[in-house]
This record gives sequence, structure tokens and C-alpha cells, in this order.
Amino acid sequence: MRPEILFPLFADVVTLPGIGSRFAKLIGKLAGPRLVDLLWHKPVSLHNWSRRETVASAPDGEVVTLTLTIVEHTPPHRAGMPYKVRASDETGFIDLVFFRGHKDYLKAALPAGDTRYVSGKIERYDGRPQMPHPERLLDEKAFVAAPVIEPVYGGTEGLPPRTLTRSVACAVEKAPDLPEWQDDAWLRKQGWPGWRSALVKLHTPQTLTDLEPNSPERRRLAFDELLASQLALVLARSRMRNVNGRSLKGDGRLRARALAALHFTLTRSQQEALSEISADMASSQRMLRMLQGDVGAGKTVVAFLAMLTAIECGAQAALMAPTEVLARQHRASLAPLAEAAGVSLALLTGRERGRERDDILQRLQSGSLGILIGTHALISETVVFNDLGLVVVDEQHRFGVHQRLTLSGKGHQPADILVMTATPIPRTLALTAYGDLDMSRLREKPAGRKAIATRAIPLERLDEVVNGIGRAVAQGERSFWVCPLVEENEDLDLTAAEERYDVLKAIFGDRVRLIHGRMKPAEKDEAIEAFRSGVAHILVATTVIEVGVDIPDATIIVIEHAERFGLAQLHQLRGRVGRGEKASTCLLLYQSPLSETARARLDCLRNTEDGFDIAEEDLRLRGAGELLGEKQSGLPEFRLADLSMHGDLVAAASDDARLIVARDPSLETSRGEALRVLLYLFERDDAVRTMRSG
Ligand code: ADP
Ligand code: MG
Repeated sequence: MRPEILFPLFADVVTLPGIGSRFAKLIGKLAGPRLVDLLWHKPVSLHNWSRRETVASAPDGEVVTLTLTIVEHTPPHRAGMPYKVRASDETGFIDLVFFRGHKDYLKAALPAGDTRYVSGKIERYDGRPQMPHPERLLDEKAFVAAPVIEPVYGGTEGLPPRTLTRSVACAVEKAPDLPEWQDDAWLRKQGWPGWRSALVKLHTPQTLTDLEPNSPERRRLAFDELLASQLALVLARSRMRNVNGRSLKGDGRLRARALAALHFTLTRSQQEALSEISADMASSQRMLRMLQGDVGAGKTVVAFLAMLTAIECGAQAALMAPTEVLARQHRASLAPLAEAAGVSLALLTGRERGRERDDILQRLQSGSLGILIGTHALISETVVFNDLGLVVVDEQHRFGVHQRLTLSGKGHQPADILVMTATPIPRTLALTAYGDLDMSRLREKPAGRKAIATRAIPLERLDEVVNGIGRAVAQGERSFWVCPLVEENEDLDLTAAEERYDVLKAIFGDRVRLIHGRMKPAEKDEAIEAFRSGVAHILVATTVIEVGVDIPDATIIVIEHAERFGLAQLHQLRGRVGRGEKASTCLLLYQSPLSETARARLDCLRNTEDGFDIAEEDLRLRGAGELLGEKQSGLPEFRLADLSMHGDLVAAASDDARLIVARDPSLETSRGEALRVLLYLFERDDAVRTMRSG
């Protein structure tokens, strides 16, 4: 239950003076339906009414305040004409102009002979000064009482700016003093005000500096929001972990066999990740770990060795990939290792049907099948494990949290979960999107990998590029050619993969293959296999190949219209090469002129191959939401925090949240009580509820 102290803030905006259902709807659309939503509606600018001028001295087009005596009213002669009120000061006359002005209202507000303080922009019309729709019309008393500086809010069509400003001010006024939930020492060290004064200051900026995201008030409020989000995540996690996980301690015999069959040794990063994973699996708490590593860093083999540990303990393991191509590829690369280890392994996608499928399901249920690799087909109710111990999810952000949990719920006890992602997520984002996971990172690439020479080339030089590819192909090299769309779309003016395929086929004949998302799975397989085996030398592709396709012999990738791709996507695409011993090349073909951001993206790629650096740059260029693909990411939306500005606060909030939960797991101390209010304020009601039940 929401604490009573917050009730006023969760009232509907329609309860505010001057807000009927029409305005309430507009405010709802703009900020949200309750008073609390107005609190989070930050001002974007401010009005300074302090500039006093005279009619003669006021510059055109600037907001000024005049002290005027009202002279006479001229209502419109006919419809469509404005209502004018003539006024003057000692330097001259000015017309106050109102389109669709209400006569009665104006007569009462501006009686002839009275003095008024009028603020607005001056214009000259036929050389005569006028002020259309003054923004403020105040008498002496109101003028003395009115704020000199007022915030300006982003608005919406149909909602008068003053109504919005007044509504926000009312909401702020109704905000109660809340118990302090932040640590005192931390607040003092940061020099941050209390919650209410920060809120008041947010909505009464005095200077442009006050509007900056790094003003103390804004940072405090951003931190409150981040702390609420981190605390909710940590609480959720501590609950998930406390559901009795199981201890999987392998004896290492299967692992030893697989390791002996590898033609390489594990990197130090891989070994470290593996020991973190093993420790989690051995513990009786449930594992929730993400294995994050750049493309080609070698996550799959780490995950496979973890699966062997589950099997050493008599349990089973599942590996879920986001696409069929990837699932098949995992099967192909892991089958020989599984065989060497003496472990049975099968593949289950939408394509395995009838007998074959029945047989797999039967072996799975009886326990004779050790490892099952597949697509989301694994989630189907008909898939029943004998004893599922470990779930590995590849490329996690393509799956929802829900799918992840459904699969891991197929064990007698909740299975351990290992999530692999090739998207290098900056720490800031990882914490906010996946704060409920522990993290292992593979920063080191397998030895012997060569740098990928990356060049940006304008599309006008396409012929040269084609010639270059021709020479490379003649020497037996293999090249990806990536195009942005499947079919020609004139609107977007993208080169279609099919069209490019035809052109290249005319030159290189049989050595070119095409793969795109609308092809049948068997056709895709055929194309990939031809390319993998070297029958084909050029694979024209849409972004189908983005994730995970592993063909170490490919050494060239051409990305057409590189300016249309995001940085992370370009990085993923480039990662398709540079996976073997040979030197590789990435050619970024772009359409000029390049926008500033597009240029920054291409420069960034040319300058670095480090996925983490690239991800940080991407965050800077794009903001958080897009980076993980909005909705799928599970990334919370923040009202006060801006991840590109407040990144440092995320880490601090995360640390703080962990400390709080470690010391006061059910939030019972007095700070704990205040933190409950914080959770409710930011609508993390779930976190409080689950904490009580668990
Ligand atoms: P990721 O899934 O992280 O993109 P993969 O697991 O697909 O990377 O590995 C990419 C390639 O590198 C595979 O061909 C794999 O066999 C190879 N590989 C993995 N670890 C090593 C290592 N330590 N040394 C050399 N090659 C490795
Ligand atoms: Mg992979």
C-alpha cells in the first residue's frame, strides 16, 4: 500500500484549480495523469520578466515589461479582426492586440485610466508599436507579488503555457516534506539539498545554470530516481536468489576431455569468466550471470564448458539462440566438442518435426539427452526436461526477461541462468537494464587476431571497390557484402540487396550468393554453407548476418550505406571478419554528404575496435534508449536522470542499493522506512511488495 504521505501527489491532475477534463487529458498526454507526473516535468527554459523598458526604448522582438496607462478599448469592427487596447507611457502609445479576445474579460482586466504592468514581445506594425497577446497583465499588487523569473515548460497544442506553468506550481506546492532517504554524509559530501527544496528549485530556476542537468538540484533528483530503480533491482534479485538454487559442483572430467579436444587454449579472460561461473553454479544460490564479450571474444566455448559442469552433476543444459541460423551454427561448432566429451547433444527449432522431434523430446524427458540447443522453440510447453540445471541464453536482449524465466523454470528447481551478449553494454546501461545480473566480461580477444583495417569510402567510388573485391576473390579471399534492405524501397533510397546481388552476379557469376531474412531457412543454409565451404566467395547479405555468424575464413566485409546503420550495429557487422589468422578489411561505403553524427560514427569505427569504447561513444551519440533497442531492452525510462549526463550516478546508486540491502534487507531501519517512500514515489511498488512476501 502506498504510504498516506504520498496520496496528494498521486491525485489526478483534474483536481487542480483551472483544470477540467480537456486540459487534464492534454496534461496526461504531455506529462502524465497525476500530480507526481507534473513534478517530473522539467522546465526547459526560463522567462526573465525583470527587463523594464519604455515604449520608445523597447527593442523589437524581445520580451520586456512596460508600465502602461490604459487609454481606450477598440473592439473588432468585424469578425476575424483583433480586439485592441490602446495604452501609453510617457514616451508614447502602444496597442495591446488580442485575437479572439473576450470583451467582458478585457474590459474588467484593463479598465481605462488604470496602470498595468504588461510583459510580452513588442512588434512594429506600420511603424506603430504593438504587443500581440501580452504574456502578463498585472496590476500593482499582482506585480509586486509575481515572480520576476518564471520557468518555461515544453507544452502541447491546445494547452495554454500559463495553465501548464500554474499547474506545475500547484503540484509542487502540494508536494509534502518527505523523510530523507539519502545517506546524510553522502548528501553533505555532494552538497545536495533536501528532496523538497531540490524539487522547488527545479521548478523555480533563477539562472540558465540552474537548468543544467548537472546542477546540484537536478543531480540530487536524478540520483533519487536512480536509487529507486537500483534498489528495486537489488531487492528483486535478492529475492530471486533466495529461492533455493541448487549447487552444481562438477568433478571436471567432462571439461578436461573437451579442453583436450580444443585446438587452442583459453585466454585469461575466458578462464576468469569460467571460474566466476563455476563458483556461482557451485553455490546454493541461483546463478544469474551475464557473460558479456565482444564479437569473436569466445563466449560460446565458455558457456559450453559451464554446460559440461551441469552434466557432470547429472543435470541437463539448454542453449537458446535468437535465430535458427545461430542455433544451427552453435550446434555445428559444439557437436565435435560434445562428442569428444562423450555428451549427447541435439538441436530443436521450428524445423524439427514429427518423428525427429518426438525422439528428441523423449530423450530429453528420459534424461538420456544432455544438451539441447535451439531457438525459442525450447520454451514450448511440450519441451520437458528430465533435470534442467543450466540455461544459457545467447544474445539476450533479443529475448524478454519473461522468456528467460520461462525456460529456466523448466527444472525441478529454478535452473541457473547464464546470459551471453555480444553487445558491449557500458556499465551505466548494464546496471540500469540488467542490474539483476552479475557480470563477467571477456575484454581480451583470443591471441593471434589481427586488427581489421577499416576504411570509409564514398559510394561514388563503388567501381573501385568492386574491382578491389574482384582482385581479392581471384586470390581466394571471401567477402561479405552487406546491404540495408531486402527489396528496393524508393522512399528510403537504399540499395537493395537483390539489386546488388544481380550486379555482382553479372560480374562474378556463380561465386556470389545472396542471403536475406525473407528466404526459406533451407535456402539460407545453402547460401551460408556455400560461402563457408568456399564454393562461393561473395555473400551478399542483409543484416541477417549481424549476429554471430562465424566464418573465420571470411576476410573482407563491405557495408553499403554505412551511414544508415547505428554504431553498435556497424561494430557487430564488422565483427564478422577478423576471426581467423588472416588480416581483414572492412569497407564502409557511405553516401555523401555525411551528417555530423554519421561522420562521428564512421570515425569512431576507424579509430577503435574496442567494443566497450564503441559502446560508450554510441551512448554519447544516441542516448540510452536506442542503444539496446528500446522496448526489448527492458531499459527503464527515466524522468529525471539522463544516462548520458548522469552516468557516474548510476554506479553510485548501484553501490548504495547493494549496501542498503546488505544491511537492512527488509528496509526496517528509519532510513529503510524513508526508502520505502522513495520506492513508492517512483512507483516501484512491486519491489516493496515482493520484499514483504519474501
Ligand atoms: P563469440 O560468441 O564471443 O562471438 P565465439 O565463441 O563464436 O565468439 O568464438 C569465435 C571464434 O573464436 C570461434 O571460432 C572459436 O572457436 C574461437 N575461439 C574461442 N576462444 C578462443 C581462444 N581462446 N583462442 C583461439 N580461438 C578461440
Ligand atoms: Mg557467439
